Amino acid sequence: MNINLLSFNVSIGKKKPRTIKGYKPADSACPFCAVDKLVDIIDTDGSIILLKNKYQVIENSYQLVLIENDVCHSDIPDYTPEHLYKLMHFALSHWVDMVNSGKYEVTILFKNFGPFSGGTITHPHMQIVGFPELQPELMFDPAEFAGITAFSSDGIEVNMATRPHVAFTEINIIATEAAYPAGTNFIKGYQQHQPGHKIILPETRSINTMADMIQQTITFLQEIHPSPSFSYNLFFYLYDGRIHLKVMPRFPTSPLFIGYNIHFTSTNIQDLATRLTTHLTTHI
Ligand SMILES: [Zn+2]
Repeated sequence: MNINLLSFNVSIGKKKPRTIKGYKPADSACPFCAVDKLVDIIDTDGSIILLKNKYQVIENSYQLVLIENDVCHSDIPDYTPEHLYKLMHFALSHWVDMVNSGKYEVTILFKNFGPFSGGTITHPHMQIVGFPELQPELMFDPAEFAGITAFSSDGIEVNMATRPHVAFTEINIIATEAAYPAGTNFIKGYQQHQPGHKIILPETRSINTMADMIQQTITFLQEIHPSPSFSYNLFFYLYDGRIHLKVMPRFPTSPLFIGYNIHFTSTNIQDLATRLTTHLTTHI
């Protein structure tokens, strides 16, 4: 089995602050609240800040942090539409700019939230990471974007995954060709960039709809997984030149997936898709 393999720099990792409860050493002060101490800032828009990650723990990569706002214990469900739209435009623009720089074979955009998400800092943030040498075709299976359509508007489709990457209530949000300006020329397959070709963003209206969908799929997952340790990831992908996104609730991961690569769907997947449709049409 071909894999992408990278080195984690342990000596840098040891210095990282951790504010999510349960991590050792003891909880640190939040580095993202101390705005006046931030260095290597790349861009800002109001309270949104993009900066170079101070802890470049992944060898052979370039890591950025995107601080979503100045409220430490908040998250996407709390944002006003105005802030939510501004944030998604900012995040997607910088991600695509890094893709179009041509310096990286693959650039990823993702978010961790909650103790099971793999994150170490509570303060809401996303990450953009460029990898000069990874193979994109080893990073995801496009078959896992299939699902039962729950909502569709402005070229943005939301589905309940029928081939989840790990298990259960994974939700896909996909920008179809209808989300992009007429005449857009799409790169096919996994490749993120080609000489003389730039990835472009969906229309503003479609990005706003995508942002609404992200916010409301998170509130949906919160409702069906009510727990103080509710956790999720957002994983953004470029496939066929278009944005694909997985909203993945996180739990202690199934040993059958970790040990044997067995993926799980659930017997009530159709019911969950129907409930998601109800939730989205009620809240958007
Ligand atoms: Zn903070």
